[in-house]
Amino acid sequence: MPHHQSAEPSFVDSFAALPLGSLRAHSLKASEGEFQQSLGATQRSLEDFAQLISPAGATQLEALANQSKALTQQRFGRAIRLFAPLYLSNECINNCAYCGFSRDNPILRVTLEPDEVLTEARALAEQGFRNVLLVAGEHPKFVSNGYVEQCVRILHETIPSLSLELGPLETGAYQPLVTAGADGLVVYQETYDRNAYRVHHTAGPKKDFDWRLETPERAYAAGFRRLGIGALFGLSDWRTEAIALAAHAQWLLKHCWKAQLTLSLPRLRPCAGSFEPVDAISDRDLTQLICALRLFLPDVGIVLSTREPASLRNGLIPLGVTLMSAGSHTEPGGYTGAGGDKLHKTDRGKMIALAEQSSEWAEGATGQFDIADERSPETVAEQISSLGYEPVWKDWDAALTS
Ligand code: SF4
Repeated sequence: MPHHQSAEPSFVDSFAALPLGSLRAHSLKASEGEFQQSLGATQRSLEDFAQLISPAGATQLEALANQSKALTQQRFGRAIRLFAPLYLSNECINNCAYCGFSRDNPILRVTLEPDEVLTEARALAEQGFRNVLLVAGEHPKFVSNGYVEQCVRILHETIPSLSLELGPLETGAYQPLVTAGADGLVVYQETYDRNAYRVHHTAGPKKDFDWRLETPERAYAAGFRRLGIGALFGLSDWRTEAIALAAHAQWLLKHCWKAQLTLSLPRLRPCAGSFEPVDAISDRDLTQLICALRLFLPDVGIVLSTREPASLRNGLIPLGVTLMSAGSHTEPGGYTGAGGDKLHKTDRGKMIALAEQSSEWAEGATGQFDIADERSPETVAEQISSLGYEPVWKDWDAALTS
């Protein structure tokens, strides 16, 4: 079903014309000399980006890292912004092979009431957070627009900077959320490989690749002024994903220029329903990719989550990362136990009440994936400081104007 009917240009058209296969081939066969050329360029094209993530470049990682470090400091100073995810609901009508919340997983589920969301947010505010990402599965009944709007309104005073990561909506459905006070919208394409996308998204509205690909554009049209995109590394060839993500970011910077853009590069983590990554991206590859993104897109924010272990996160702080989550829980109620009295299970989407004496009550809702960095936010902030960087808890703009 074609969604793209307006006269406005869309990334869906640019994406169709993107020579991903030849850019990947170009990356794989790039010489050291070509890598050096791209490293020294003042204006960099997508071909340069492909050369920067080449196997030839992997042997020159230090030179790449030094340049990325200097450029990041020039553009962002030594600030590392901290945020926390707050899960509203783990109900979902989609089946995504890699996600613990998939409809067919018989997990413990709950949707927090708005006052329970506020309890969670207050606990985060007490830890210092002023920038929170509200996350929910896609479920029109439990996670309706009215519900999300209510949550945003109730939280706004406690948390001045709120972003949303939800099932994609129409522009008109985003507008009330912006009016309520949400300023950021995060939507990962997961994979830019149409075949892999089809294989891993087997049920639910998420099956529609183009609808998802256009989501940041609809969010921008609705008034969101922070946009986050990303690819979930481990579903397809990592270089192809990286090139597509870089092209998507470049397009958004041009067409949605009033928004701040952030990129996320999550790697698959263990979750309910076992899934084996297809093309694992190594720590070294990930480092090369972050540095290459910085050189190609000097002003985009780069996000690093607690999916990554503490040692790697510390090592990546100076190299291009600008935002980090800390102390994260990926289950609704994870910070305070809120909503624990309403747990239920699902069997292929059908709700099943827990028996009164069930030991499962004590488990709490199931998380989306396992966390690798379990340090407290306070410890993460201390480590950032000890590395000579400044942990920033507030929203970017608020920090500049206060
Ligand atoms: S990735 Fe998102 S849409 Fe897919 S099952 Fe998980 S929560 Fe639902």
